[in-house]
Amino acid sequence: MTIPAPSSTTVDLSKWEIVIGLEVHAELATATKLFSAAPQLFGAAPNTNIDPLTLGLPGSLPVLNEQAVELAIRVGLALNCTVQRSVFARKNYFYPDLPKDYQISQYDQPIDIDGWLELPSGKHVGIERAHLEEDTGKSTHAGDTGRLQGASSSLVDYNRAGVPLLEIVSRPDLRDADQARAYVSELRSILVAVGASDGKMEEGSMRVDCNVSVRPQGSDTLGTRCEIKNVNSLRSLGRAVDYEAARQVDLIEGGGTVRQETRHWNENDGRTHTLRVKEEADDYRYFTDPDLVPCDPGDEWIERVRAELPVLPAARRARLVGATGGGGEGVAIVVERGLDGLVLAAIEAGADAGRALTHAEHNLSDERSAELDPSAFAKLVGMEIDGKLSATQAKTVLATLVAEGGDPAEVAAAAGFEAMDTSELEGIVDGLIEANPAEWARFCGGDQKVTGFFVGQVMRATKGQADGKVVTQLLNARKG
Ligand code: ADP
Ligand code: MG
Repeated sequence: MTIPAPSSTTVDLSKWEIVIGLEVHAELATATKLFSAAPQLFGAAPNTNIDPLTLGLPGSLPVLNEQAVELAIRVGLALNCTVQRSVFARKNYFYPDLPKDYQISQYDQPIDIDGWLELPSGKHVGIERAHLEEDTGKSTHAGDTGRLQGASSSLVDYNRAGVPLLEIVSRPDLRDADQARAYVSELRSILVAVGASDGKMEEGSMRVDCNVSVRPQGSDTLGTRCEIKNVNSLRSLGRAVDYEAARQVDLIEGGGTVRQETRHWNENDGRTHTLRVKEEADDYRYFTDPDLVPCDPGDEWIERVRAELPVLPAARRARLVGATGGGGEGVAIVVERGLDGLVLAAIEAGADAGRALTHAEHNLSDERSAELDPSAFAKLVGMEIDGKLSATQAKTVLATLVAEGGDPAEVAAAAGFEAMDTSELEGIVDGLIEANPAEWARFCGGDQKVTGFFVGQVMRATKGQADGKVVTQLLNARKG
């Protein structure tokens, strides 16, 4: 792989291995904040979802949100983690959007440790830990750039301050941009499946920090990493990884060394820029928060949550593979869209499995598709398999069923998709063979290209109502 480098030459990455570890912050879908009853609601007017605790007013005391713990347990179990007794610490630093001057976060005793998730490719990615912490408020810098430098004033909105976050930290197991994207998208599906988050990256419900290092192929020691902030979409994540790896290789091959630092991804120039040289963790003066007792959910709670977990995306993919014999990307797409239940129900109702899966992959991208009636879907697939509808006609009928519902036979009839009688079709084929002896001789001689000629003629004669596959079958049968 070659990628444009900072020096505008290209960097050859073939002798290098990219190593990526991701820290994903997911806002938990609770009704209220992590330590108070202030509501959490995206898009509310500034400084309306607040209370004394959110503002860090003296005398206010935190009370742990049970729903946030429940969601953290769900995610932990879904990620094959051990769920353990955890402790809240204060991470001390000053920032205008952090009114208490410290963030409450789990530090050396997080709630979830040591898990993994499986990518659609089958690769396992280790999960180091997932810990609960509170979100900060949001600063807005008034000015042309939106950055602090050069701003005429800054505004702060505390609505987000105290919103529960689960920070999910992967092991450095990812090896390229595609894997990094697949990891985030799988994690998002899992968070959504267990009801922990709405997974909306565009609303900041999921935020990704991306650690990247490079090392010579074959080496088993880790290179120095940079942590990239502000990757707000899967596309940015891929671009940031590629750019950053090329930057590091370029630096090392030029005789330099990578400095451990935090960098900022700039979507506009497609580059990462130094934000700050990585602070030592000690600078935060972590200590156990004296206002909170340890959080120990205990076996009974954990086992109750485990028993209630829904079927997770990896298992749903496996189930769909089992039911359809299909595999790979199609199955992953269908599960990602949440259409696996529809396909399974349609198969149950008698639909051809392969055909149902193909439709779900290619012709059901409409958001309303999940509400499609499985028996109507099955009936449509049946009409297609029986040759009553061509593939193109089936696709059209399907779009109508998704948009308006109804019965496939009636929709097909209303669209003028009359069932083609096979004997009628045979007559047309025979007529064409007789009228085009030269083409027919070529076809019989094995010239595949004339198949298209005959199919095209049949389509013209039937105004597109014939099924191309059936015509080809008839031609081959005539050839003997
Ligand atoms: P920090 O608090 O400095 O962000 P964390 O332990 O929270 O450190 O996160 C470290 C993240 O960086 C993890 O996702 C881990 O997998 C990843 N990581 C650690 N070392 C490397 C490395 N050499 N290259 C790439 N990623 C790394
Ligand atoms: Mg971190």
